[in-house]
Amino acid sequence: MSWRSFPKAELHLHFEGAAPPAFIRGLAKEKSVDLTGVFDERGSYAFRDFPHFLQVYEAATQVLQTPRDYQRLTRAVLEECAENGVIYAETFLSPDFCGGRDLHAWRDYLHAIQEEADRAEREMGITLRGIVTCIRHFGPDKARETAICAAETAGDWITGFGMGGNEAIGRQGDFIWAFDCAREAGLRLTTHAGEFGGPDSVWQAINDLRVERIGHGVRAIEDPRLVETLAETGVVLETCPGSNVTLGLYRDFASHPIARLRDAGVNVTISTDDPPFFHTTMTREFEALEQAFGWTADDFAELTKTAINAAFCDEGTRARLLKRLEST
Ligand SMILES: [Zn+2]
Repeated sequence: MSWRSFPKAELHLHFEGAAPPAFIRGLAKEKSVDLTGVFDERGSYAFRDFPHFLQVYEAATQVLQTPRDYQRLTRAVLEECAENGVIYAETFLSPDFCGGRDLHAWRDYLHAIQEEADRAEREMGITLRGIVTCIRHFGPDKARETAICAAETAGDWITGFGMGGNEAIGRQGDFIWAFDCAREAGLRLTTHAGEFGGPDSVWQAINDLRVERIGHGVRAIEDPRLVETLAETGVVLETCPGSNVTLGLYRDFASHPIARLRDAGVNVTISTDDPPFFHTTMTREFEALEQAFGWTADDFAELTKTAINAAFCDEGTRARLLKRLEST
């Protein structure tokens, strides 16, 4: 069967990383920005390995410069999500890219995005929530400024705080102040761990930052005690199998630990991370998981339910989403 129209909820999506290549090319042309080397002959993003991916990512996203650019990006991203059956998406947004951590500028960006997201909700029935994200390799001081931006704009559609960036630099515990600040402002917490870092990085995320969700977290599979702890505490993994396979963490979907983690009782979910960079969509993730593990509509309904239950949204929105899932 085609999974395109099956209702999906996506919890791990980098906003700039979700930009369709055609959208970035159009913006570059308008602004006369040279993007030589960013695209391959088919017009997809082109990169060799993880360091090169980061370079291409940075080059492509440099054309996103103003609130108006982000407003147009919102439309492009939500159209793509809605076409793939996504009824609810959470996206990582960073004040580092939206106004250089200046609170007034940040508010302008958020306002522009929200306006377009409201329109998309009316027209396409997709709901968007934002997770304010600090960048690990920018260091704890900048993360504090980011957390203050997050705290000042918490509520309404900004519902979470998280951390992305290079996992090899620093420790989760270096960012306790930022995460405490966000928690006190009522934001829900997640952080990238256990992708390039081993199980130890997941332990740090749980113990030091006390997050309720982990971005990726798949390398928890290397530590049975950690798998047990995740299952017992109900910490949710924002799993992005296609991203992990493209970046070479696992050879293919069949080797990916998502099914083993799920069988061990861990709350796993399905997301795309930076979909056009990893040549994926939510539909393709479902197709590949069906092929690798024989998952059926019952399995995918359960996974979507787990994602909705773990969503950083208000209870009214959650009830409405669960109802939509049940009625399909
Ligand atoms: Zn990510």
